[in-house]
Amino acid sequence: MNLAFDGMALSPDLLITGGDVVTMNPRREVLLGGTVAVAGDTIIAAGGTRELRSRFPGTAELDATDCVVTPGLINAHQHLTGDPLVRACIPDDIDSDEAIYQWAVPLHEAHLPEDEELSALLACVENLRNGVTTIVEAGTVAHPDRVARAMTQAGVRGTVGTWGWDVEDAPHAAPAGEVLDRQRAVIESYPAGGLVEGRVTLVGHGLASDELLAGAADLARTTGAGLTMHMSPGRADVEHYRERSGRRPLLHLADLGVLGPHLLLAHAVWLDDAEVGAVLATGTAIAYCPWAYLRLGQGVTRAGRHAELFTRGGRIALGCDTGNAGDAADILRAAALAAGLAKDMGLDPAGIGAPEALEMATIRGAEAVGLAARVGSIEPGKLADLVVHDATGPQWTPRGDVAQQLVWSTDGRSVRDVFVNGRQVVRRGRCVTVDEAGLRAESLKASAALLMRAGVTVRHSWPHLRSN
Ligand SMILES: [Zn+2]
Repeated sequence: MNLAFDGMALSPDLLITGGDVVTMNPRREVLLGGTVAVAGDTIIAAGGTRELRSRFPGTAELDATDCVVTPGLINAHQHLTGDPLVRACIPDDIDSDEAIYQWAVPLHEAHLPEDEELSALLACVENLRNGVTTIVEAGTVAHPDRVARAMTQAGVRGTVGTWGWDVEDAPHAAPAGEVLDRQRAVIESYPAGGLVEGRVTLVGHGLASDELLAGAADLARTTGAGLTMHMSPGRADVEHYRERSGRRPLLHLADLGVLGPHLLLAHAVWLDDAEVGAVLATGTAIAYCPWAYLRLGQGVTRAGRHAELFTRGGRIALGCDTGNAGDAADILRAAALAAGLAKDMGLDPAGIGAPEALEMATIRGAEAVGLAARVGSIEPGKLADLVVHDATGPQWTPRGDVAQQLVWSTDGRSVRDVFVNGRQVVRRGRCVTVDEAGLRAESLKASAALLMRAGVTVRHSWPHLRSN
């Protein structure tokens, strides 16, 4: 089988040879012992190893024998600042008000621009090592240039915006026009087609007036940059919008003209039938972060409609949220949970399973974040965002169905090599674009200083005894 473009005259710089290539192409073909040919930043062929070696003699090779090669994974909702430097510091037995006002707000206030860059670098390295090659930043960045610099240094693809709100009772609120001007500036600095692209990002929830919501949607539509924001992870947004507008949140957004294919909504856990209908009718995409809802007790097992949205043709991607909610930036873990929840909540073992969850993590995730023309599958003409999973570990022995093994048996721990835009960013499990030891040392130092400046104290679950 040869999936190359006929007549594509480019010659490759690299052949990734001998792995089982999970293409996620429209026929979902898996090329056993196959080869992917990469020229510059682009995949130019995927096919048989012997055939591509004879077609491109003398090309450098990366041996992927006993490996599984997948498209780079899509993380549609990842906070790059705030939590990465305080991982596992915020207690996991407090309600969301306490988490926000006692922790998140003072920590963000104490964040320096250099903390944002360091925090983003740490989060990008974690994502890359788990096979994530595209990150949609979730909308809580104060210094987008510092975050974009970290993403570029790590070599991860993604989108970034800057936060802003205009409700008067929130600290640092600005008029809607000013918030939109800042968003526009980010989009102009990071135009479409680059490794890092600008996206309109609002925090969402109740932190935006109707004017700001409608203006952000307009900006997203007219520039083509897209919009992302949070809504309805728990019941609070539903109650707030009922008080504010007499309607449920997504129906209010629909009336304002905010919903549509340009919008990637994070969470959308608490939707009623009419809101589900509005999401489907408008082609609004959703970033589904199942670990965050379990971790924060937000009620996904009671209210979540993501499996239904997906099977009805909705645009669902997976996300890992943040360091004190989803915690692990590992899309394969999220994929397993998404499939497990769908089966259990639907009392339907034949419901969404490993293949569908892997679609959410790759091609359908790419479609939901608006990048499917360029990434999400291994097909000639697409950008070379590729993950080589080492399939020699016990979790891969014996080799059964590859989708099941990727979703149920393993997670980011099998990731061996990662390429973004044809550039190798992870080699043998280590991120090679960043000095990992230096990053760790700097992060430990910055974390201690940040906690001190924010005036918060880590409360350990158990007594910690010095034992030297
Ligand atoms: Zn979030």
